[in-house]
Amino acid sequence: MKSKGLDLNDIFESSSKDFSDSEKTLIEKAYTFSQKAHENQKRNNGEPYFNHAVEVAKNCASLGADAITISGALLHDTLEDTEATEEQILENFGEEVLFLVSGVTKLGKLKYQGVERHVESMRKFFIALAEDVRVLIIKLADRLHNIETLEHVRSDKQKRIAVETIEVYAPLAGRLGMGKLKGLLENLAFPFAYPNEYKETKGLMDELVPESLKLVDSIKNEVEEILKSFSIEASVEARVKHTYSLYRKLLKYNMEKEKIHDIVALRILVKTVADCYQVLGLMHMAWKPVPGRIKDWIAVPKPNGYKSLHTTVITPGGVVEIQIRTQEMHLDAELGIASHLVYKEVTTTDKIPQKQQRAWLTQLKELSSLVESIDDMNELKLDFFNHRIFVFTPKGDVVDLPEDSSPIDFAYAIHSDIGEKIGSVKINRKMASIDTILKNGDIVEIATNKNAHPTHKWLEHAKSSFAKRKIRHYLESNNDTNIGA
Ligand code: MN
Repeated sequence: MKSKGLDLNDIFESSSKDFSDSEKTLIEKAYTFSQKAHENQKRNNGEPYFNHAVEVAKNCASLGADAITISGALLHDTLEDTEATEEQILENFGEEVLFLVSGVTKLGKLKYQGVERHVESMRKFFIALAEDVRVLIIKLADRLHNIETLEHVRSDKQKRIAVETIEVYAPLAGRLGMGKLKGLLENLAFPFAYPNEYKETKGLMDELVPESLKLVDSIKNEVEEILKSFSIEASVEARVKHTYSLYRKLLKYNMEKEKIHDIVALRILVKTVADCYQVLGLMHMAWKPVPGRIKDWIAVPKPNGYKSLHTTVITPGGVVEIQIRTQEMHLDAELGIASHLVYKEVTTTDKIPQKQQRAWLTQLKELSSLVESIDDMNELKLDFFNHRIFVFTPKGDVVDLPEDSSPIDFAYAIHSDIGEKIGSVKINRKMASIDTILKNGDIVEIATNKNAHPTHKWLEHAKSSFAKRKIRHYLESNNDTNIGA
């Protein structure tokens, strides 16, 4: 089962899970199928293309993905780039794997092309995610490997891929609580996306980190002593801020480096929640905390699920940020939704539709609760996630719309031809007025009428710029004949 340097065991070893025999068989089958399908294909760096599939599967495995997802990862490029057909994948691997592979293939067609398109891609991502979060996990794992090997790509393409990674992929990983992946994506993409800013930030790190590290190290022993004398089992380590997140923070503080106190922080990982609070108390007994810098994200987690206690203390050598959390919280912060959803929701293999819909609604619910409080996250570029609602077609497709949208917006979002011919509307299977304000989760059905056409009243009740534009265009090109209708 050897392929130049990479084999099946690399995938199993990347995972912390124990796969059953049937799961192993599935992964092994996907491995063999993918190897054969990609035979003779090479990547830009001259390596066999199949290595990419294995690397992506490894990434998924290390994110805690299940056997179905790992198999999907192995096959993720077969539909697009090889002779393999949907029928073959269905026959050999079943509906779920096919669903994931086609999902990834669809997402692969989206490319970053400036701000407007970026928002559009994000939206599509979101919808894909609502269908099955595992599609997104494979896509993120795919992007991670592509960015790891970006140096081999043509230089004009490098910049586009790197910017897209920072603007689209990394924030999504962050939104899903996948802190480790987000950090990796940003750091690898940063030098290619914004070379000058990268050089500047890197220079600053080289200047500040050694000193900061010395300060944190100087209290590390003391902290360990304290914890030991109170018999608290803990691991204590200095964590250095990622280059890109330092850059973001510098932007926030108008490049005033004096205001940044957490380039290096002390991270304390303990066993229980009670330990967290005890350690916080002990730290405050040893050093005075900076007022206003004590954050209890255990009692009130961040919108993306992040849990931790943060405090900044004044030591003789300077101020130091201390982060205290349990091992479990730490793992969650690193893996995020991958550890929650992939593990708990979707590991069985009964038939999809019903079950998938359930998992998908749970995910959507969790995500809308994330979406509600995005203000806190200082990620302006993601604002459009706010104030959006998600409604469904009778078939269960997700349509995302601005808050306060009406069935008019819905109809235009489906297709302009439907928008222009709205006859009657049903919301949740009941007749409803065309100006009803839609709510999250509504099922909306439009019956068209060939005699219907946009009116000024429609314009009043349309919320999305797309629908408004289309209606205005219709009204203008049909002059004033419709006024008052
Ligand atoms: Mn790929």
